[in-house]
Amino acid sequence: MRRLEGKTALVTGSTRGIGFEIAAAFAAEGASVVVADLAQQNPAAAAAEIAAKTGASAIGVALDVSKEADCELAIAETVKAFGKIDILVNNAGITKDSLVLRMKEADFDAVISVNLKGAFLMAKAASKPMLKARTGRIINISSVVGQSGQAGQSNYSASKAGLIGLTKSLAREFAPRQVLVNAVAPGFIRTRMTEGLKDEARAKVSEMIPLGRIGEPEDVAKAVLFLACGDSSYITGQVLAVNGGLYM
Ligand code: NAP
Repeated sequence: MRRLEGKTALVTGSTRGIGFEIAAAFAAEGASVVVADLAQQNPAAAAAEIAAKTGASAIGVALDVSKEADCELAIAETVKAFGKIDILVNNAGITKDSLVLRMKEADFDAVISVNLKGAFLMAKAASKPMLKARTGRIINISSVVGQSGQAGQSNYSASKAGLIGLTKSLAREFAPRQVLVNAVAPGFIRTRMTEGLKDEARAKVSEMIPLGRIGEPEDVAKAVLFLACGDSSYITGQVLAVNGGLYM
């Protein structure tokens, strides 16, 4: 029996990178999947690719997670297409790095707005059907830098640390209705963000990681899948680090 048979899952920012891998892993385990991303990323095309690869039902929904109306519409479209929502993964995220002295207020606001407020708005919209159904999973994609801090990323690390507080508060609030809320904190993962690294820089990063390699999107997807399926039924309010031991 596949681990997500009969479940419906929405993953934000899932046309590429880690989000795409999570959506594809869910579909391979039998879930109906909603690929939710900015319109310019063509979520319908990514959904079609996942459906063709796995045979699962998948639809694309265009949204900007920092807009409340978009979030509500995405959940409504999910329920309209599949009758319910069982799993929400808040994966959409952006970076606008610079040292604090040079960081523009707008760059701080933009990162908090997408990474942190976006997760709040999506969780709020999804919680209505989940709490009513008395079942559900919400998984927030944080980051190692939300745990350790990072020079040049004060906006990003604040947003990712904020996600951990949001995760724990939602976990407490929703536990009485059996809606489980957890976070995954990836370390250095090979995506478009990190692919530009020169060999020398890549080797330096790998040296800092006890497991000796940069992570793959699949490494993160496997951890998210665990938190989305029945195997984690007594786990809520936790942060699962997927970082090769980079931060302990
Ligand atoms: P990615 O390749 O940049 O994918 C993120 C997706 O989210 C993109 O399709 C992006 O579209 C979309 N997005 C951006 N703003 C959005 C918005 N307002 N509404 C909806 N979708 C939006 O990122 P990734 O590397 O796979 O990372 C995925 C998540 O993991 C992020 O939350 C990231 O912070 C976290 N993470 C990544 C790493 C890593 O090493 N890669 C490490 C730790 C944590 P655009 O491209 O148009 O912006």
